[in-house]
Amino acid sequence: MSDTASDIAQGLKVGIIGGSIAGCTVAIELVRLGCDVTLFERTGEELKDRGAGIGVPPSVINTFISRDLVDADIPYFSSHTFTRIWRTVPEQRYGYIAWDQPASLDLLNWGGLYRNLRKRVPESVYRTAQRVVALHELGSGRVGVEVANSGTQEFDLVVCADGYTSLGRRTLFPEVAIQYAGYVLWRGFLMEDELGESKPLESGVRCLGYPGGHGIFYFVPGPDGSVAPGKRLVNWGVYVPVAESTLTAFLTDKEGKVHEGSLPPGAMAVPTETALKQKAYERMPDYYAEITDKSPNTFAYAIYDCQVPAYRKGRICLAGDAGAFARPHSAAGALKGINDAIALSDALKTHTSVEEALTHWDRTQTATDNNLVRFGNQLGRALVKEIPDWSQMDAMSMEKWFTSIITIQTEMFDANARKV
Ligand SMILES: Cc1cc2nc3c(=O)[nH]c(=O)nc-3n(C[C@H](O)[C@H](O)[C@H](O)COP(=O)(O)OP(=O)(O)OC[C@H]3O[C@@H](n4cnc5c(N)ncnc54)[C@H](O)[C@@H]3O)c2cc1C
Repeated sequence: MSDTASDIAQGLKVGIIGGSIAGCTVAIELVRLGCDVTLFERTGEELKDRGAGIGVPPSVINTFISRDLVDADIPYFSSHTFTRIWRTVPEQRYGYIAWDQPASLDLLNWGGLYRNLRKRVPESVYRTAQRVVALHELGSGRVGVEVANSGTQEFDLVVCADGYTSLGRRTLFPEVAIQYAGYVLWRGFLMEDELGESKPLESGVRCLGYPGGHGIFYFVPGPDGSVAPGKRLVNWGVYVPVAESTLTAFLTDKEGKVHEGSLPPGAMAVPTETALKQKAYERMPDYYAEITDKSPNTFAYAIYDCQVPAYRKGRICLAGDAGAFARPHSAAGALKGINDAIALSDALKTHTSVEEALTHWDRTQTATDNNLVRFGNQLGRALVKEIPDWSQMDAMSMEKWFTSIITIQTEMFDANARKV
């Protein structure tokens, strides 16, 4: 009997590595198609909040709701202005507003999005404390997934959604390395009741430029999902140049342990955090520097990017940050993982063999996601490495500059809203 578009996924035995944003979405979508899914997540407990805020183009939340990936009442804020600000002597407290850039973004909480996805993955599918240590091509379209201390299980299809240091990517493409961009993103959040004055953040996203980078500040729903004034969370991220030669020292925590790629909340060495907080007062208007100063348990991650030659080899696929990995300027980290999952599910629905579906999906994701990496690089160059002095510019010259630097278009969901 030949396969048809409606039955190629039925009973397909799928193993997923990683149970975060991309892994959960792949699991939800493929369970709904009738696949027999097992998800392996190395952490033994629920994932802790990885970040604080996520900005996505407005059309995206509607897509998530219409596919029942998130609840219709998921809390978020809509921002329509991206205000570009520079510290000047006369405008030391709030900064000189160079441009109120029109840009629509919906701002939500990373943890809120993750929990919405996680609760849609059946408990029987999601296996915790299962670290995958190797993948084995077994021939005849079968793949072995070897889990630490519990042997190897066989699948028809394996999707590696195991993040930016992906075992899957290293297995398929050992020659591909992630590239350090030369700067880190220092992050934190502050409860609104600690803020004192909310007004400067009310009307949208604030972007503070300074020589060598910029910082972004905006409200997201509070930890309990509250969007009520006084209960919100100020989410911020500040790009800071850190030479590759000093990155290891930067990523050494207060106990002397060296971390790979990121420092979790509260781990940063006291002298490192103190120096960052002092620098913030030199770089940004006082109002924003004070927010960083008051924020407890700040954290940081090194910025990397990576393009991949393909999204699959045989029956092993990559999804989310395990595939191409873009800088956060593209505001597409979580979005890309969800998009990869939706596209995989749609490909399995609309082709008459798994092979055809994967070929189509691979071609599309490789082109779209590598393009996103180039888009992120372009933004990184313009907004970090070669940022001009905005205090010498007005709205007209800012718009002209911005239009001239952004030449790459992205195709995922709503490209215009991500040019921030
Ligand atoms: C420290 C940090 C903070 C971030 N903050 C933000 C933010 O605020 N906003 C935003 O939009 N984006 C943020 N990002 C980026 C965002 O988290 C990712 O783009 C998004 O989560 C991608 O999801 P993913 O599922 O592809 O990968 P990840 O979220 O990285 O998840 C990978 C999962 O795979 C699991 N895993 C890895 N290896 C194995 C293995 N061998 N066996 C089993 N399981 C494994 C991991 O435990 C993890 O759960 C942040 C990234 C980092 C590193």
